[in-house]
Amino acid sequence: MRENELCIYAREQQIELLQNEPLCDHTTFRIGGPASFFAVVEGSRLAGFIEKVKALEIPFFVIGNGSNLLVSDAGYPGLVIKIAETPIRMLDDCTLEVSAGTPLSRLAMAAANAGLTGLEFAHGIPGTVGGAVMMNAGAYDGQISDVLVSSFCYDDESETFFRLEKAEHTFAYRHSSYMDHPGRIVTSAVFRLKPGEKDAIREKMSDLNARRRAKQPLEYPSAGSTFKRPEGHFAGKLIEDCGLKGYRIGGAQVSEKHAGFVINAGGATCTDVLNLMEHIEKTVFETFGVKLEREVRVIGC
Ligand SMILES: Cc1cc2nc3c(=O)[nH]c(=O)nc-3n(C[C@H](O)[C@H](O)[C@H](O)COP(=O)(O)OP(=O)(O)OC[C@H]3O[C@@H](n4cnc5c(N)ncnc54)[C@H](O)[C@@H]3O)c2cc1C
Repeated sequence: MRENELCIYAREQQIELLQNEPLCDHTTFRIGGPASFFAVVEGSRLAGFIEKVKALEIPFFVIGNGSNLLVSDAGYPGLVIKIAETPIRMLDDCTLEVSAGTPLSRLAMAAANAGLTGLEFAHGIPGTVGGAVMMNAGAYDGQISDVLVSSFCYDDESETFFRLEKAEHTFAYRHSSYMDHPGRIVTSAVFRLKPGEKDAIREKMSDLNARRRAKQPLEYPSAGSTFKRPEGHFAGKLIEDCGLKGYRIGGAQVSEKHAGFVINAGGATCTDVLNLMEHIEKTVFETFGVKLEREVRVIGC
């Protein structure tokens, strides 16, 4: 009944609503059972859609590119929403406004093409702007908080849209205030960059990507670094020093190339990955007394 009502609403609003959509097709781990519903929605149309979903008491969850997610084998018994990508807007010579659904690689390339420096670090991160603001994604001495001016969000509790200035994000290492307010959905963000030399910007991006390819197991599905960097240590080094490189449970394996990555070596289930993460956490704690904190976000378990 509730399901029918949602389908009717989506049809009226011309929102494409998929049913029983396999989430393994929407995560870089290639793991995850079906979501009851899946929709790609423009930020400007989010309010009405979410009000309807809430009125129908259907649980919902927002994803970007699913590059930091581990989704349950049973899937998600509700609606998964992805924010649509819309064209990037130049607000002035150095300021860009982008929708949350924009891939970081596309944003970084647009900045390079406009001769703007500051987002080279983001080119190889396989997430969207929304996920990156939420996670304060970063690499090679750069992070989202260095270049973000503000973000625009829909707040599911107050049912209003508002702008968050940079200071209100309380950014820290792989942390933003969005993590403390799960009902807030980033719909767009504004970035301020600096004028730069196009060739030098492109060269830096390709150098950073080459470093990634050399060090990271990009040939396997994964969700990137499995654990945050513990203070004073590197998670990958601790895991490697425990002799866990190559350690495997089912289809989940500690990468031989970079022990900080758990990879889907073939047919891994969410349970395989969870069991492997628990084994790693226990072994590292027993060996070094360091408590690893998960960077990967687990959904539906
Ligand atoms: C090979 C590989 C390399 C990686 N390298 C890096 C790296 O160098 N640095 C780094 O920081 N990360 C890295 N990652 C992890 C990942 O790409 C980042 O965390 C990225 O920011 C996640 O973005 P996403 O759009 O994929 O978000 P998702 O994985 O889809 O979601 C992550 C979280 O953000 C939330 N979210 C997504 N969109 C929104 C939105 N619009 N509003 C509110 N919440 C939202 C989700 O609910 C979820 O809680 C890597 C991953 C892979 C697979």
